[in-house]
Amino acid sequence: MNIKNIIPPNIQLKIIKNRNYKYLRLQFKDFSTLLLTAPKHINEQECLNFLQSHKDWIITQVDSQNKITYNLLKEKIFLFGEWIDFRDTSIQNLWQDFITAKTPSLAIKTNLQTFYQKELHTYIQSSLSHWCSLMNLYPSEITYGKSIRQLGCCYSNSHKIRFSLKLSLIPKTLIDSVIIHELAHIKYPNHQKEFWNLVLTYDKNPKNIHLWLKENHGFNLYLYKRIFKN
Ligand SMILES: [Zn+2]
Repeated sequence: MNIKNIIPPNIQLKIIKNRNYKYLRLQFKDFSTLLLTAPKHINEQECLNFLQSHKDWIITQVDSQNKITYNLLKEKIFLFGEWIDFRDTSIQNLWQDFITAKTPSLAIKTNLQTFYQKELHTYIQSSLSHWCSLMNLYPSEITYGKSIRQLGCCYSNSHKIRFSLKLSLIPKTLIDSVIIHELAHIKYPNHQKEFWNLVLTYDKNPKNIHLWLKENHGFNLYLYKRIFKN
């Protein structure tokens, strides 16, 4: 087994061993640096085996990054699960700064976060008013958070709903699924049978979102972290 067969030639691999690390872990530090962190006792062969078993993941990540670079040339921006022509030069410039930076500055990230939050809020406001009147369920307040795992959350006593900004990278039809799910929680706090019956009345395929996320996991997570995590 040779490392050259696992890591693409334009990617630099860095290995950091530390006794505080409990597991082997792979992550891209930027477009060209792959970082492998490992517990101190792990030897070279074990590192190689780990890399070999994650070869598909590495290829998917590199492919996603190439997609970003490719779309940069076409001046497209990734929003709501697709590459779109965003005909606003200040946003285009911001996006290009973001893509070309080795590590985007806090200023770039903050501006981009504001852009994504504004886009998401505009969509959620209009979609929410549609679903609220159809379902006759109304949240007391809408807030936004940065959760990676929880796309939405409804507080059972206050009926406040919090949406994750991660939704700004997900197709609009799937955002609707999250909205329907959270509105249904106003009536049923838990995932009991009645809850799912209510959800299915308005959303025929509530599982589509999980399928989409599974398929787009690598790229979506990569982009989300690059935009929203400091
Ligand atoms: Zn739920």
